[in-house]
Amino acid sequence: MERPVRVRFAPSPTGPLHIGGVRTALYNYLFARQNHGAMILRIEDTDSTRFVPGAEEYINEALAWLGIGIDEGVAEGGNFGPYKQSERRDIYRQYVKQLLDAGRAYIAFDTPAELEAKRAEIKNFQYDASTRGMMRNSLSLSADEVQRLIDAGEKYVVRFLIEPDRDVIVNDLIRGRVTINSSILDDKVLYKSADDLPTYHLANIVDDHLMEVSHVIRGEEWLPSAPLHVLLYEAFGWADTMPQFVHLPLLLKPDGKGKLSKRDGDRLGFPVFPLDWHDPATGDLSRGYREAGYLPEAVSNFLALLGWNDGTDKELFSMDELIAAFSFDHCSKKGAKFDYEKGKWFNHEYIMRLDDAELAQLFKPVLAQHIDVSQFTDEYITAAVGLIKSRINFVSDAWEHTRFFFVAPTEFNEKDVKKRWKEDTPAILRELIDVLRGLDDMTSAHAEEVVLGWIKANEYHMGNVMNAFRLTVVGECKGPHMFDITQLLGKDETIARIERGIATITI
Ligand code: GLU
Repeated sequence: MERPVRVRFAPSPTGPLHIGGVRTALYNYLFARQNHGAMILRIEDTDSTRFVPGAEEYINEALAWLGIGIDEGVAEGGNFGPYKQSERRDIYRQYVKQLLDAGRAYIAFDTPAELEAKRAEIKNFQYDASTRGMMRNSLSLSADEVQRLIDAGEKYVVRFLIEPDRDVIVNDLIRGRVTINSSILDDKVLYKSADDLPTYHLANIVDDHLMEVSHVIRGEEWLPSAPLHVLLYEAFGWADTMPQFVHLPLLLKPDGKGKLSKRDGDRLGFPVFPLDWHDPATGDLSRGYREAGYLPEAVSNFLALLGWNDGTDKELFSMDELIAAFSFDHCSKKGAKFDYEKGKWFNHEYIMRLDDAELAQLFKPVLAQHIDVSQFTDEYITAAVGLIKSRINFVSDAWEHTRFFFVAPTEFNEKDVKKRWKEDTPAILRELIDVLRGLDDMTSAHAEEVVLGWIKANEYHMGNVMNAFRLTVVGECKGPHMFDITQLLGKDETIARIERGIATITI
């Protein structure tokens, strides 16, 4: 019988969520929505030594920003809670006991110093069938001695008893069937009496089982744990309902080999986190996509394409289109190079898809850092961003491109002056002022027709006159179509700027 699809994103709150983790969350979400299943957010905080304050809130905020909806979780509730592992101690204790009672796990008292000594003594030491007899554990000590040590309060761990030389089969939707010999696995620690908490492996398996997870979709770095997890499912007697594994390809450095890291971002100047992160311990700031000016839709689209495509060249997908098209069949096994320039391209495309009024609203906070926004109407700001939209990758870029719409130039680009300002320029521009005064409307097409007609009739140099005109209005010989600019500025402002230019520019 087909199981209902239930997937989980299971981050450990040990710091800011890395962009690779965000992609894992996104693929889980796409798969859940496509199959009308449930998306669970489980907080895996059993490693108290690595807990970082603020990390859980950061995860929630990042997922919400990107539109990755959660059906069951700490905030959302659900029938399978609690969804935070540190609140599930009682549950794990029971399952640790079950393995101990069934002889599938054992208690070990070896101190860190003792383990260190063994590692020094035996090359490539591994705690397993070949060595466990030499160690201090419930297999090598008498039952009385074990009880005495526990009663004396000695710290212990519970280790998984792995039978050597067994073929363990891991079925992975992306990687296919992988066979691993159990002898390479060590007797992993499942529980530590010191903090009365399970390790990741036990908690993860127990929760996936109890939460009826159908597919475990996670980063490739967890692939080495998969055989151990298969053996744990068997040991618990849950092999029949073991979830389907899906290990996603790694995100690779933009250049060279290896996994994308925070350092690559620092080195090459791009964020590797969804949101800004202030490290509570060091006070360091790591930049986020949101604060760097990315639109969440662009980030989701960009991430979705890192390791997946729909089998065609199509690159722009809305979230709904991603949900419809997503499939593990088209996920690559190979790692995906993190192409940051492509990220900018996606953002540009999403800016182009915004309507001008939406873009203006996003731009207003940026504009407010430079000028008093209340002097301008929304219509004016909307028209200004509409004219430069195709030139920007980020909302914040719009300031540099629209500045002259809000502040009249007082300085004029020297190179442009040298090239375009001739002796007769002031006189010609004075004539232009008269031509503009005579216009009954400033609409772009009309002004263009009249002004160009006047230039031709007088046989003036088209390039020089138009560029000098632009120089006085914009401050440099760049920007959108000249008559679109003057339409928005209006007749009086345009003329005032030409006059100021004539008065200021000298050669
Ligand atoms: N807590 C693990 C992590 O932080 C979860 C891995 C998994 O999805 O099983 O990546």
